[in-house]
Amino acid sequence: MVQRILCVDDQPANLVALETILDLPGVELLKASSGAEALQCLLDNDDIALALLDVQMAEMDGYEVAELMRSHRRSRHIPIIFLTAINKDLRHVFRGYESGAVDYLFKPVEPAILLSKVRIFLDLDRKSRELEGALQQVQSLRDSNEALLKSVGEGIVGVDGGGQVTFANPAAGQMLGRSPNELVGMRIADLFVLDEAPAGTPWQQSALYRACAARRQSLHGVQGELLCVDGRRLPGEFTVSAVQEDNGRSGHTAIVFQDVSERREYERKLVRLAEYDSLTGLANRYLCLNIMGQATARAARAGHTVGVLFLDLDRFKQVNDTLGHAAGDELLREVARRLRLCVREGDTVCRLGGDEFVIVVEGLNAGRHAAVVADKVIRSMAEPFLLQNTPVFIGASVGIVTFPETDGDPNTLLRCADIAMYQAKQRGRGNFQFFTAEMQDAVLHAQRLEVALRQALQKNQFVLWYQPQVSPATGAITGVEALVRWQHPDGRLVEPDEFIPLAEETGLIVELGEWVLREACTQASRWHDAGLLNVPVTVSVNLSVRQVRGRSVIETLGSVLSRLSIRPNQLMLEMTEHMILDDPDTMIGLLTEIKALGVRIALDDFGVGYSSFGHLKRMPLDALKLDRSFIEDIDSSARSRDIVRAIVALGHGLGLQVIGEAVETPAQRDRLAALGLDALQGYCLFRPMTAAQLGEALAALRRAGG
Ligand code: C2E
Ligand code: MG
Ligand code: MG
Repeated sequence: MVQRILCVDDQPANLVALETILDLPGVELLKASSGAEALQCLLDNDDIALALLDVQMAEMDGYEVAELMRSHRRSRHIPIIFLTAINKDLRHVFRGYESGAVDYLFKPVEPAILLSKVRIFLDLDRKSRELEGALQQVQSLRDSNEALLKSVGEGIVGVDGGGQVTFANPAAGQMLGRSPNELVGMRIADLFVLDEAPAGTPWQQSALYRACAARRQSLHGVQGELLCVDGRRLPGEFTVSAVQEDNGRSGHTAIVFQDVSERREYERKLVRLAEYDSLTGLANRYLCLNIMGQATARAARAGHTVGVLFLDLDRFKQVNDTLGHAAGDELLREVARRLRLCVREGDTVCRLGGDEFVIVVEGLNAGRHAAVVADKVIRSMAEPFLLQNTPVFIGASVGIVTFPETDGDPNTLLRCADIAMYQAKQRGRGNFQFFTAEMQDAVLHAQRLEVALRQALQKNQFVLWYQPQVSPATGAITGVEALVRWQHPDGRLVEPDEFIPLAEETGLIVELGEWVLREACTQASRWHDAGLLNVPVTVSVNLSVRQVRGRSVIETLGSVLSRLSIRPNQLMLEMTEHMILDDPDTMIGLLTEIKALGVRIALDDFGVGYSSFGHLKRMPLDALKLDRSFIEDIDSSARSRDIVRAIVALGHGLGLQVIGEAVETPAQRDRLAALGLDALQGYCLFRPMTAAQLGEALAALRRAGG
């Protein structure tokens, strides 16, 4: 059996990477480099076991593909794992779940995790296909009921008007554990439980017999039980037919029956597969939502409260990464076991996927009582887990939403609990938070802002302002930093602090950053062509880690530098320290690639992000921009002066320029000049200004300088 995985990513390199990781026997990868190709693939293949969907794709994004998949019968059931570079963030995670995500993986994808997740889904697919095959066989047996009369597989007995067996075939004997001869003469009531009549009711008075006799035709699909000689009761399915005899006497019936225990077992397994998590045996997301729906309906009638606890492990990823996925699985099973111990009978523990669990607590007298369970859960998760003979500390954060305090369908409740969990994480993990109206507002605000930002991009509402940097030694302009602003339709000029963080979270920063880079370079080329900006004056552009990680910046730079007159070394890219520290090796590699294009690189807000000397040495840097916190109090704090002096020495020692920013007073300016900084930027020198204003300022300077 070949299993097919659909991989969708618009970056060819990512598809190649997936192909390398998922090189499994019996698995075929179908690759699509756009949403449209993916849909074509789904039309051409109706046996896809799993889809790996890149979230960010041009034209049609992963969520849209998922929504389309969910709206078609053929592809509705295919599990989806989203691959996204976006950090875990509420809004898009919800969006993913709403459009049918089963799971998320974050880029760069960790091969071991991807493999283990994919294996789980392939296994599930295989099992459900096997069960489906078996069910189909049973079904087809059932469909050919008529033919079965002759078949040896079905038991057949003839019954007279008095309810005694007159005839039995070998299969009937086999199923009931007696010989056919033994069966003859036995009472039907001692062999089958066939209808609701009290024990001992004569066969002719049974509703079933009467229905049969009255209709003079067969009754199919009658459910009952076979009473075996060894005392076992097996589920059976019966066809009862009135037999019209030649002499017109009636009252005889023929009963054809079948032992359906195996089929029931298959059905139970299918239900389990559909409703339970195979790793932990807990209710899965689907059943969880059902249970929540029932619980809130019961609570509404009884005037009780339901608590929904959303739990996320705090250090699960580390376990998976360092101890391997087998240890991760073991941990999840142990977590499930402990969670079951934390709740009462009647409460439900579910696993949504990954390291996310939900507990539905029923029959509470007040919402606040859910905190008791949350507290118990958190304490239980704080106990060490023994993995590979090592105690490992995991911990968990819990978000709580209660019904009827928060009203809504199960999906909404789950989402609210997830939001609260996210807040608990933000507040330092290992604690719980109740869902509040403010959280709701914050999410709504962010959602609206996201929509507005997308429109702003389409409608070209962003503008760049420029702030010059000045050499304290000569007073000359050494560079300008491009700073983005949003010209809001309501007339406000919105500062980046209000929208950059959200653009980062949602991934919009990639598109926005690309626009900034192109716009800044285009403007710089105009100034360059007008003779206003010459080497070594640089134009600085702030970069987001996502632009670098997704390599979009490398592509954009390639096209910009080949088209425009700006020289590579006139462009300075600014990255903050923490962007690099997240994953220093990858980032240093990518920055080195960027550096190879000839552009310059500065480390922004330097000094607060714990860069190690080792990293600094390996990073392909040209400049350090001191964090403003050292400059703020440089006048009053000897300690800040010492730090700045040390950083200048360090920077110069590494051959880097050291730049001071947010220089607001002449006193600060003079101190920094004395400490040997190479360039200064701040309101006391120049405020950020429009391109037109800067153009005039540069022209004026040129005229003044001759
Ligand atoms: P940053 O890169 O550290 O930029 C310097 C910020 O300091 C700018 O704020 C600038 O207006 C402000 N500033 C300059 N002189 C002074 C001063 O004397 N006093 C004070 N208090 N502030 C001063 P802005 O433009 O609001 O930008 C804030 C941050 O937004 C930037 O910090 C940068 O991290 C981010 N940002 C701005 N434009 C972009 C962009 O195009 N892409 C990305 N990814 N981030 C950007
Ligand atoms: Mg900057
Ligand atoms: Mg800065």
